[in-house]
Amino acid sequence: MNITIGHLYPDLLNLYGDRGNIQCLLKRCLWRGVKVELKEFDLSDHIDFASLDLVLLGGGAEGEQQQVCRQLYGIRQEFRDYIDDQGVVLALCGGYQMMGHYYDTGNGRTPGLGLIDLYTEERAQRSIGNVVLESPLHSMPIVGFENHGGRTYIGDNQPFGRVLCGKGNNGEDGTEGVIYKNVIGTYLHGPLLPKNPHICDYLIANALERKYGHAHLQPLDDQREIAANKYLYQRFVG
Ligand code: GLN
Repeated sequence: MNITIGHLYPDLLNLYGDRGNIQCLLKRCLWRGVKVELKEFDLSDHIDFASLDLVLLGGGAEGEQQQVCRQLYGIRQEFRDYIDDQGVVLALCGGYQMMGHYYDTGNGRTPGLGLIDLYTEERAQRSIGNVVLESPLHSMPIVGFENHGGRTYIGDNQPFGRVLCGKGNNGEDGTEGVIYKNVIGTYLHGPLLPKNPHICDYLIANALERKYGHAHLQPLDDQREIAANKYLYQRFVG
């Protein structure tokens, strides 16, 4: 079995070590004998979504975020087709905001890709700190770190998790991130996947399932990750 991961614009969107998510995906596939081809795209590359099984879109500073968003706007229909076809996406922070209708800042409105029914408004006070979530995806809590000025409103969409510690989407409704089809959008940097191997496996399993119609991921020794997760849960939630 093999999967192809598309890392979109890693030169522009790579805040707080988002690239660590790729390393985690690669290793957890490799340890199970799943071959991975990694394609890194920059602004001059054509993206053939049909050749991808998993897409990672990281977070970036405002200028880079706008640059990438303008670029993706031109191919949003291809991106939409990929998502409608159950393509797997992990979109982080700025990348997550782009999936929505728009991102309003003091400098005006940046149109988003409109792929998920959500929107974001910037506030002066940034949301910064550790986050713990309970998620419908797994009984193990999700732990991470957030740093964003945007407040995201996801309407009736399913959140990635409920905030047990931290601010999440907007600091008001207790939600964090979004799950839409096989897309996970989240503010958690950190990077997310090494701290949350259960989420890494969820993405890999979805990619394999879509491609081969079945996915059996043999368990790995995650004792250290589970211990770290428990420690963080105890520390921030108690
Ligand atoms: N510019 C966005 C915000 O601060 C996202 C930044 C990021 O990706 N960390 O809300």
